[in-house]
Amino acid sequence: MSELRVRFAPSPTGYLHVGGARTALFNYLLARQSGGTFVLRIEDTDTERSTQESVDAILDGMAWLGMRPDEGPIYQSERFEHYKSKVQQLLDEGNAYRCYCTPEELDAKREAAMKAGEKPKYDGTCRNREDQPTGQAHVVRFKAPLDGETCFNDKIKGNICFQNTELDDLIIQRTDGTPTYNFVVVIDDAEMKINLIIRGDDHINNTPRQIQLYRALGYDVPEFAHVPMILGSDKKRLSKRHGATSVMAYRDMGYLPEALTNYLVRLGWSFGDEEIFAFGDLLEKFSLDNVGKSAGVFNPEKLLWLNAHWIKNGNSARLARLLKEYLDEKGVDTTDGPNLVMVVESLQERAQTMLEMADGAVFYFTPEVEFDPAAEEKFFKSETKPVLECCRKHLSALGDYNHDAIEGCMKAVMEELGLKFGKIGPVLRVALVGGTQSPSIYHVVEVLGKERVMARIERALTRF
Ligand code: GLU
Repeated sequence: MSELRVRFAPSPTGYLHVGGARTALFNYLLARQSGGTFVLRIEDTDTERSTQESVDAILDGMAWLGMRPDEGPIYQSERFEHYKSKVQQLLDEGNAYRCYCTPEELDAKREAAMKAGEKPKYDGTCRNREDQPTGQAHVVRFKAPLDGETCFNDKIKGNICFQNTELDDLIIQRTDGTPTYNFVVVIDDAEMKINLIIRGDDHINNTPRQIQLYRALGYDVPEFAHVPMILGSDKKRLSKRHGATSVMAYRDMGYLPEALTNYLVRLGWSFGDEEIFAFGDLLEKFSLDNVGKSAGVFNPEKLLWLNAHWIKNGNSARLARLLKEYLDEKGVDTTDGPNLVMVVESLQERAQTMLEMADGAVFYFTPEVEFDPAAEEKFFKSETKPVLECCRKHLSALGDYNHDAIEGCMKAVMEELGLKFGKIGPVLRVALVGGTQSPSIYHVVEVLGKERVMARIERALTRF
């Protein structure tokens, strides 16, 4: 095959759906793997339902997942004149005809066909009409072959054939002069020299019609690969009922793009029993050969597990930049707070999402720690006051706040008081954090640094 040219062709009628994102990723990976070209085409011929907001949402989602198109975005709405000339070409060559049947007539035909137990397809009334007045309201229909079959060898699903008698004379131009999806998609894919079309298998029924149009328009027919749908846990097509389906909703919930990419590509594609794939691994290993023929079930727990993996193993400087975004969104001011990279390192071991990490990081940035009443009652008592005072004494004498030095310091507190760590750590923790949950106390002390630790202990001591 010559240089691979693939495309992602979303209709901008909503956000970027995880199913669409997966299709886009498959295309993108194959293009990157082979030095091919990834084209982004915005299919906005339905002017009623297409919005700029949705275009932006799709572009944002793609950018967040790191998919940059080599060509595009190309907007179909800017090509209407060209599509018109192609309608004219088919009319001139006798491969299309004007159809004057009214919606009411078509409804009546459909009903009659159903009553007679036949497939409700267009009966061809206008197909052989001699006069073709242009002044009268009409659609333009493609003159589809009446017999034979249309077959293609799908790279995922195998050989697929349709009897041409099953296929209608497709409308290629509506009464208002706008062209239809099946028609423009063929013109664009052919003229953009797309040679492999990877898309959702909800388009399989469109493929034979499109192949007939390729032939009638004198274009080479590309290869097809139809990717199975993503289902919810009830085996129905994944929808909002099952939870978030928008790519950017996952960003907002604290997922990393590499986790979502890993999850989506692995869903419906396998490589032995491996589960963890960095982008580089996907580039190396992804192939359509191992894409399953049947639908995959979306498993939020597995996605969460992968997210935790990618957070745990993520570069802390990068995660710090991301954490700041989530903290900003929560209204947490990080300007005078502790070092964000250290904050991340204290939390990345356990956080399953960046949102969880942000929640767990809030205490670092709150000068006036909010004390959990139950924790305060349990740990701030007259008997424990000397514990905190002793911590203050040793920690104020400590110059270098590194992990080992802090550990040594706490040992000194234990020795001086003759107490186990279990009697000291929790008191100090409530003083510094406000509650009983936090990263290791050594980490917390190190990340907060001396000044903040001292201020927090002083403040806590006023509450006994
Ligand atoms: N615009 C179509 C859709 O969003 C995709 C068309 C195609 O991939 O051929 O479903």
